[in-house]
Amino acid sequence: IYGEKRKNSKGVNLNINSQYQPLIDTMATFMDSEHHVKPLLAFDVEDDAAQRHDVLSPYDTRQRVGSVQWTTSEQAQRAVDAAWAAFPRWCDTPVEERAQILERFADLMEEHLAELMTLCSREGGKLLTDGVDEIREAVDFCRYYAMRAREMFDAPIPLPGPTGESNELILSGKGVFAAISPWNFPVAIFCGQMVAAAVAGNPVLAKPAEQTSLIAHRVVELLHEAGMPRDVVQLLPGDGPTVGSVLTGDARITGVVFTGGTDTAQLINRSLADREGAALPTLIAETGGMNAMIVDSTALPEQVVADVVASAFQSAGQRCSALRVLYIQEDVADHVIELLKGAMAELHIGDPRDLGTDVGPVIDEDAHRQLSDYILRLKEEGRLVAEATPDADTTAHGHFIAPTAFEIEGIDALESEQFGPILHIARYRSAEIDHVIDTINAKGYGLTFGIHSRNESFAADIARKIRVGNVYVNRNIIGAVVGVQPFGGQGLSGTGPKAGGPHYLQRFATEKTRTINT
Ligand code: GLU
Repeated sequence: IYGEKRKNSKGVNLNINSQYQPLIDTMATFMDSEHHVKPLLAFDVEDDAAQRHDVLSPYDTRQRVGSVQWTTSEQAQRAVDAAWAAFPRWCDTPVEERAQILERFADLMEEHLAELMTLCSREGGKLLTDGVDEIREAVDFCRYYAMRAREMFDAPIPLPGPTGESNELILSGKGVFAAISPWNFPVAIFCGQMVAAAVAGNPVLAKPAEQTSLIAHRVVELLHEAGMPRDVVQLLPGDGPTVGSVLTGDARITGVVFTGGTDTAQLINRSLADREGAALPTLIAETGGMNAMIVDSTALPEQVVADVVASAFQSAGQRCSALRVLYIQEDVADHVIELLKGAMAELHIGDPRDLGTDVGPVIDEDAHRQLSDYILRLKEEGRLVAEATPDADTTAHGHFIAPTAFEIEGIDALESEQFGPILHIARYRSAEIDHVIDTINAKGYGLTFGIHSRNESFAADIARKIRVGNVYVNRNIIGAVVGVQPFGGQGLSGTGPKAGGPHYLQRFATEKTRTINT
């Protein structure tokens, strides 16, 4: 996070420039091209100027990246027809064939790394390091779910036969899935949802976030190139009220996999429940977080500061997993805050294509306005602790928010998740720790949580009491690794199962028990 001063875990300086230079040179060849795209459906879509929307870069809104033709509700309806018709054939396609498509797709994404990273940066405002992580995660999702699908779907699972009968459990696809994905991981989460549903035997209608439709389009082109049939995965760029409402209102949609705000998940849930004559739906939702970290007086302050900066400000705080409330034990709070101020003063805020940049832009004007208003309000309340300084030359025409830290009494003072580089700090006295944990649990969210302490029993006790999906001890709280740190929360943070975990595909499958009287 400290740009040129970045070190690996052994404290050795990494020569970032030489490591990334070949990639940067290839990226340069994609930097100026414009992309003009349409929905990718099972049928051809006519040009329609009235549905075209320009895409401007979040770091410099004078730069046009391209334009997207949004899907109309009639086209969305026809796409559902095609997906519905494709289901029996796709569900019967051998799992080996489905898994191989995912693996070819992963290879293609690796081959097109520089091109995809360029789009992540130009359309999504992503730093180069975030772009690499993003595509690596998408590749990991493909390979991991291909492996799990073979284990789960290849052959019936034998069951005990105490009555002398032969009993087996057979997993297969459920039906048509809508995949509604966010802009903050426009490749990783977008792919993870889509390939999980498809490899389990379900046709997918993918609705990407409006802000990152160009990336989604390129990704689905590669997926089709890898062999995914065009009626099995269709791309429906467009807005929630038009495309989302067709998908969540159609009785033939068996399930929705969604990542985004808790409010939107609740709307989707209601819309699915209200459908006349529809089977009971599956909703897999990964939603917001109000993630906290507790630092006690035994923690290593320098390590705490590095992990807090990464957790709160990496990806400009635009991660569901990002740190929102840092609780520091009173005895060490002043010292940790002083170090944190120093670290924040070092942050480079600017052009995400520059290797020295630590924090890029937020996604769009709405996000910028909402975060700026919030920052202003907390400043007026006299809560400001520290604020980084953007690089004036490179931020003048983009949606930049400087990382900011405020002091508050506790998590219960927060009304909503602020999806940007804003950190809240609260102090606690050691006798209050149970109250702190109860307050965090009472908030109802439960995604990520961090503990910094060298007191192992203290850390173990808190890890046990806290109700969240991902607990991290003595490290940052972002960047869960597929297959290693399955990701997803509970309560207002999501339904589970965890993405990149062993049980994820299960929710996309239906189970049939076959009993034969032998
Ligand atoms: N999986 C990501 C992480 O661990 C966060 C995903 C999200 O923001 O939705 O940081």
